[in-house]
Amino acid sequence: MIFLIAEHKDNKLKPITSELLVFAQRVGRDFSQSITAVVLGANASAVVEELKSKKVDRILTAEHEQLAEYNPDTYVEVLQSIISQEKPFLVLIGHTTQGMDFAPRLSARLRKPLIAGCVEYDKLGDNLVLTRQIFNAKMNMKTGLRGDPPYLATASPGAFPADEVEAGGTAEVVQHPVDLTGAPRRKVVDRVEVPKGKADLSSAPIIVSGGRGLKEKENFNLVFELADAIGGSVGASRPVVDAEWLPREYQVGSSGQTVSPKLYFAIGISGAIQHLVGMQTSRCIVAINKDPEAPIFKVAHYGIADDLFKVVPVLTKIFKDLKQA
Ligand SMILES: Cc1cc2nc3c(=O)[nH]c(=O)nc-3n(C[C@H](O)[C@H](O)[C@H](O)COP(=O)(O)OP(=O)(O)OC[C@H]3O[C@@H](n4cnc5c(N)ncnc54)[C@H](O)[C@@H]3O)c2cc1C
Repeated sequence: MIFLIAEHKDNKLKPITSELLVFAQRVGRDFSQSITAVVLGANASAVVEELKSKKVDRILTAEHEQLAEYNPDTYVEVLQSIISQEKPFLVLIGHTTQGMDFAPRLSARLRKPLIAGCVEYDKLGDNLVLTRQIFNAKMNMKTGLRGDPPYLATASPGAFPADEVEAGGTAEVVQHPVDLTGAPRRKVVDRVEVPKGKADLSSAPIIVSGGRGLKEKENFNLVFELADAIGGSVGASRPVVDAEWLPREYQVGSSGQTVSPKLYFAIGISGAIQHLVGMQTSRCIVAINKDPEAPIFKVAHYGIADDLFKVVPVLTKIFKDLKQA
């Protein structure tokens, strides 16, 4: 039996859940395992209905008022009880902010290893081998599983195509009794949505994005100048936002905005899967990166393998000259 822990918000499944379903459906087929989607919440009915349209064998719900908001303490306590009772072969969790928060705690509580950030798997004989990306997605590491199941794994957002989820299930819905002892150590005080400011990139036809390759905040002027010269909007990879060079709403990727412009410049961006998932459907991708092996070149339509500090000012000048001509 394969478990996937459904991630949801405001009574709707989050996209990562469909990706986990694809992962589970593929492994399930290869290892002849049934699939159970696990839903934790206060009132799971809307999420259960959504899951019923997918090809899963069972939907297991755990409902309690203390599960109305995500909380790692309650999640770990309830999941430990479910997993100990049900003894699944594999437990799949999203490598999301939420998943990264509770999966290691669950792994420690169950004393079972966790393979984090999986992007693929293989079947070697009867054994499951999980692939994760390391060194900023420059290398893949294959991890064999030993010992007794359950095995815990988180799946990187974007690694399994959500649109390939098989539909048409006849899932049985079962309820797991929840007995939570004591108050959780954390309490959600407020939820603040990210303001959709001037960097709403979702409808921008041209986006010029910069990454860590720009080295420091001041150098981001190069990106703004190029964007200005071609009438584009500015985007960024996550490290740029984490380093507070730009506000969060500029971030493109799995935990930022998903964009699909006509033209996307990736400047000093390596092309980690979490970035690609937010921009790879762009009509034309131009990558500028001094490392010819950078993964961004795999999705780029045009690539310039050179120093961005040389290339970008020249491009800006060309576009400015063209405007004036
Ligand atoms: C749960 C989760 C969610 C995430 N969500 C996102 C997300 O939404 N968006 C996102 O972007 N990332 C996200 N990440 C982070 C992601 O895994 C990568 O770490 C990130 O995308 C790397 O950003 P980068 O390409 O700017 O930096 P790096 O990977 O450090 O790449 C910098 C690149 O610049 C190149 N470079 C350096 N100097 C020069 C130069 N002078 N000229 C030309 N090229 C140069 C280098 O060759 C390198 O390829 C997420 C990660 C996790 C775990």
